[in-house]
Amino acid sequence: MPELPEVETTLRGIRPHLEGRILSAVTVRESRLRWPVSEALYGLKDCPVIALRRRAKYLLIELEAGQLMIHLGMSGTLRVVDAALPLRKHDHVDLLLDSGKVLRFNDPRRFGSVLYQPGAEPHALLAALGPEPLGEDFHGDWLFRRSRGRKVAVKSFIMDNATVVGVGNIYAQESLFLAGIHPSRPAGRISRERYQRLADAIKAVLARAIEAGGTTLKDFTRADGQPGYFAQSLHVYGRAGQPCLQCGTLLKADRHGQRSTSYCPQCQR
Ligand SMILES: [Zn+2]
Repeated sequence: MPELPEVETTLRGIRPHLEGRILSAVTVRESRLRWPVSEALYGLKDCPVIALRRRAKYLLIELEAGQLMIHLGMSGTLRVVDAALPLRKHDHVDLLLDSGKVLRFNDPRRFGSVLYQPGAEPHALLAALGPEPLGEDFHGDWLFRRSRGRKVAVKSFIMDNATVVGVGNIYAQESLFLAGIHPSRPAGRISRERYQRLADAIKAVLARAIEAGGTTLKDFTRADGQPGYFAQSLHVYGRAGQPCLQCGTLLKADRHGQRSTSYCPQCQR
């Protein structure tokens, strides 16, 4: 599943091809995605593309009259290709640009979405989101204040989009290891200092993943056609039963919700 680093990598790949161009037309071949493709999209013609941004795992394409929101879901990819390039299976939506290129959305499992919000108001899906992990509003104090009185496991706490967006399963496990925090510890029972370390670890892990071009999506293709997948060194994720890279103790696994979490019982308290 594309995580925040893959979405950021996609944004950086496609941005130079879209900003300042004109969106000439939209072709929708399959509208049944996670939510139906916004009907307002069909009528879009000759719209200047003002800017591209990312919010959580949404790619936002700002037009003069509104905002396009693309989510990659489980298996979505975006590529900038020549308009004449033959279609592949699951190429559901094309945004045709005045450069003769198209931004092509492919999604075999169709959990992604392509939505359009007219006007300047942010879409309702974005309204309840917590801060960006790499932004200035996200820091140890924020985690500390928000967690007081909470009994939920710290791993679930940091994976909650209302706490902070974009901390997926892999990144949560790696950050908790780097901060030396046990994933099952109640969120309300962690000190300010330890939350400072955790916030720093989340920022470091995500920044490194963005540098590497994203971690999880094996067939991820960068907008320029180069493979965007680089194996990133992982300390705990997927390593339960193997020795801790720091102390040699065998890593254990706990469950949080439906997900398994690996951790070192020695290094993480
Ligand atoms: Zn250890």
